[in-house]
Amino acid sequence: MLKKIKEAVPGFDGPRKTALESIRLFCVGCMGGSFALVPECPSVNCVFHAYRTGVIEVGASRRFLKVIKSYCADCAPGGDVGGCTAGKNFLDLTPCSIWPYRRGVSPYYSAKAREQRRARAISLFGIATQEADFLPRIDGSAASGTCGHLAGWCGAL
Ligand code: SF4
Ligand code: SF4
Repeated sequence: MLKKIKEAVPGFDGPRKTALESIRLFCVGCMGGSFALVPECPSVNCVFHAYRTGVIEVGASRRFLKVIKSYCADCAPGGDVGGCTAGKNFLDLTPCSIWPYRRGVSPYYSAKAREQRRARAISLFGIATQEADFLPRIDGSAASGTCGHLAGWCGAL
């Protein structure tokens, strides 16, 4: 029996993934499709570096959507992430895996659901979660910044 695939968002031809999974896939694509090369990525200044293996490095922000938004703001011409069309298949190019999250919010949850999840996270983890955003990564660099790619690297725009 075929596994049922959850429908993704309108405008996105890829499968539904979590933000962390999407970053992981993005990094695999960045490394030419090689899972093995992702851990070897030398671009420590890339905002995805702490997440590239699918495991969050100690001290890295857990606000994945904010991280993705910052990346996309640098990638999209003029910072116009809303105008990015890389969520669709184009010729032999597959969709950009982080496209659904490019605005810094999850399209899979309503504003009300997001607020409930946020409140629940704060009640469960409290100040520890908030403070984690300001801790340095294990390499000592800040958890935000720009990617080491050339401007417009994504090329799918
Ligand atoms: S440069 Fe950035 S996007 Fe590319 S593999 Fe490294 S961490 Fe991932
Ligand atoms: S191509 Fe991908 S990384 Fe670039 S702005 Fe669009 S969704 Fe973001």
